[in-house]
Amino acid sequence: MNKIQKQCEVCGQAFIPKTVDSVYCSKKCGGAAYRKKKAQKKKEEKQQAIIDKISVDRLYISVPEAIALFGVAKSTLYRLIRQKRIPAINLGTRLVRIDRAAIEEMFPIRQTSLKKEKPTAKLYSLEPQDCYTIGEISKKFGISDSTVYKHIRKYSIPTRQIGNYVYAPKTEIDNLYNQ
Ligand SMILES: [Zn+2]
Repeated sequence: MNKIQKQCEVCGQAFIPKTVDSVYCSKKCGGAAYRKKKAQKKKEEKQQAIIDKISVDRLYISVPEAIALFGVAKSTLYRLIRQKRIPAINLGTRLVRIDRAAIEEMFPIRQTSLKKEKPTAKLYSLEPQDCYTIGEISKKFGISDSTVYKHIRKYSIPTRQIGNYVYAPKTEIDNLYNQ
């Protein structure tokens, strides 16, 4: 009985891990961490989509584009513009255009680190042997079918219907409920 306590990465409480990989004290904290990770990924994808649309020869960029490119906070950006530390032109309400070269000089690190990032491959498989049915999920984790469906929609978990059964990847479901 040599149980070592760990500190939950979400709430900071000490807990006894069920497995060596456990980093969260409860389903609740595991779910919270999972949601946060998903939201962060969505945000990064959105930023990357903005970046992808900016051509290399553009001299002036918009505020959302600057935020996506340099990871700078909106309030910081407006402060720098107000202080005239970054040259910008105002073409009207919500149409501020920022001198790209000037901001690149100020925030060089973020841009290079972003360019190195590669899109992450999907880690789940929708083959039936790699999936749970909704019924299996509700039985395994002790939740109702309707709650399972609600979570699947809420966290954009991929599903596949074969005949009367809806399948969801074990990896995604385990991430959501098991930690
Ligand atoms: Zn916790």
